[in-house]
Amino acid sequence: MSERAPTLAVIGGGQLARMMAQPAIALGLPLRLLAEAPGVSAAQVIVDQVVGDYTDLETLRAVTAGCPVVTFDHEHVPTEHLHALEADGIAVRPGPDALVHAQDKAVMRARLAELGVPCPRNAVVATTADVEAFGLPCVLKTTRGGYDGKGVWVVRDLAEATPAFEAAAATGVQILAEELVDFRRELSALVARSPSGQAAAYPVVASTQLDGICHEVIAPAPDLSPALAGEAQQVALRVAGALDVTGILAVELFETADGRILVNELAMRPHNTGHWSQDGAVTSQFENHLRAVMDLPLGSPAPRARWTVMVNILGGPTDTGRLYDGFPHAMARDPHLRVHLYGKDLRPGRKVGHVNAYGDDLDDCLERARHAAAWFRGDLGETSE
Ligand code: ADP
Repeated sequence: MSERAPTLAVIGGGQLARMMAQPAIALGLPLRLLAEAPGVSAAQVIVDQVVGDYTDLETLRAVTAGCPVVTFDHEHVPTEHLHALEADGIAVRPGPDALVHAQDKAVMRARLAELGVPCPRNAVVATTADVEAFGLPCVLKTTRGGYDGKGVWVVRDLAEATPAFEAAAATGVQILAEELVDFRRELSALVARSPSGQAAAYPVVASTQLDGICHEVIAPAPDLSPALAGEAQQVALRVAGALDVTGILAVELFETADGRILVNELAMRPHNTGHWSQDGAVTSQFENHLRAVMDLPLGSPAPRARWTVMVNILGGPTDTGRLYDGFPHAMARDPHLRVHLYGKDLRPGRKVGHVNAYGDDLDDCLERARHAAAWFRGDLGETSE
């Protein structure tokens, strides 16, 4: 018998770890954080913390000492260190053999092909001649280290392949070529899965990206056929099971113009396309991530409202944005709005927070969430409504 919950170690001090802290408080689950620098987003809210380098095994050992389980805010911890922690007797969730599919796009593509999961046509390429043989137009991606559209090049002309190979040479990674998918929109299927094998699937959402960065999410995806929604959830559940994912798995998908779904990529942690669930679902992705990695029964992923719209607050190109200063207008205009800030300073293109609006009318939710995000971003003037 134990009344106190064990401490969960979390590697990485970004906003995802910060947002895990909220349900951890409610559940009475102590977190211990490894932050990459003092004062980063999660380090502002998780008291028990170590500041250090997540690529250093001894630092990882110091943080996880006494913790039965370790989980992550990001996917960048070296695989060999994760195996070493497992050998020390710590449950690494998600485990290294699952996580590699979120770290390496070539490994992910090969495994999904084995599982018969629909993906864009793809091949690893080493030279521009390989790209020519693959066929243009195509998309080139670094197999490792990309995020938010960095490490992705649309190539319509062979000359446009050069930056990809330069980036690959500089960092020692491979390049994956993919067909340029003519997609209608991007979808995301999130599931939580526990080590015991329990799984919960969130409603499939539609996401809009600007310059490779997630900008807006609508839950559930409007006008998505029940058959395609079911297929997307089945793909996510099947991938989570086959790869033995523990915690949240986000499957980013393309809905093609001719009504198929293709997997774009996998993330094994709470994901931007699941932030709507903080206010729009019975159990948020952050709480279900905690429950899953601690092997507790999962909470219901069912929506609380007909629609939830999430819009990211990104730093604009100028310094006209406002965060706390924007509260009076945003809160007075829309008392139902839910605001989530990450404790980060505004910088161009940086995700510093998001807003959620939920209700029965999609257009109303869109207007309210877009207005608030634009207000914080500084796109609306002082007098503008
Ligand atoms: P990241 O790892 O940076 O998130 P992604 O692989 O998700 O990179 O690609 C970023 C964006 O580029 C996607 O959200 C999508 O808009 C576009 N993209 C990626 N792959 C393709 C593809 N094969 N065809 C068309 N667009 C693509």
